[in-house]
Amino acid sequence: MEKIIIILSGPSGAGKSTLLKALPSEEFYFSVSYTTRKPREGEREGKDYYFIDREKFIDMLKRDEFLEWIEVHGNFYGTAKSEIEKAFTLGKHLVFDVEVIGASNLKRYFGPKAITIFIAPPSIEVLERRLRNRGTESEEKLRERLQRAHFELSFAPFYDYLIINEDLSIAKEQLLSIIKAEQCRPWRLKKVF
Ligand code: ADP
Ligand code: 5GP
Repeated sequence: MEKIIIILSGPSGAGKSTLLKALPSEEFYFSVSYTTRKPREGEREGKDYYFIDREKFIDMLKRDEFLEWIEVHGNFYGTAKSEIEKAFTLGKHLVFDVEVIGASNLKRYFGPKAITIFIAPPSIEVLERRLRNRGTESEEKLRERLQRAHFELSFAPFYDYLIINEDLSIAKEQLLSIIKAEQCRPWRLKKVF
């Protein structure tokens, strides 16, 4: 069966990382991005991100090692070409958690093999509450993220699927259902009758 490429976006605090944990690691390879952002408590090197400094990021840029990259919330984030090779070698579905510009670049690169899923919060108020409760951002960074949320949300209609993450168990079920349905597309099954 043709492996699925899943491109997930949504404003910071919408619940992307939380939802991704619903996907079994035996079947799904999460593309680990490079970032110059400092690790949050509990984040693991090589699992959540590869945490590097700006100098190293610029070196990688110069060596053309990124498939796509962006500066957002004052930090660099990029998808290394080597991550895609890893997923294909392991024979797993490939999952990206990227902001909206990166998502459209990846969609253009992978074409119909890739599905785009937007994760939205039920409201901006809930988003703010979740970001505050997460307790990972300074007030300034939190404001920056909330400001960008409006821009990110304006891209939601252009995604293949939209999940409104209100009740976590429903959102998880929706994510798994979308993936199950995608696996049933005849051209992915490659079966000739
Ligand atoms: P993102 O990866 O999109 O930035 P997170 O997955 O870190 O967002 O979620 C932001 C915060 O909201 C986390 O503290 C998480 O535990 C919480 N959260 C995620 N989904 C829900 C939900 N459906 N209901 C309540 N809290 C949630
Ligand atoms: P965070 O700092 O909350 O982990 O991520 C901030 C934003 O950067 C999120 O919208 C996340 O999806 C996005 N992001 C993470 N890695 C990449 C990447 O490699 N490329 C792009 N374009 N965006 C990324």
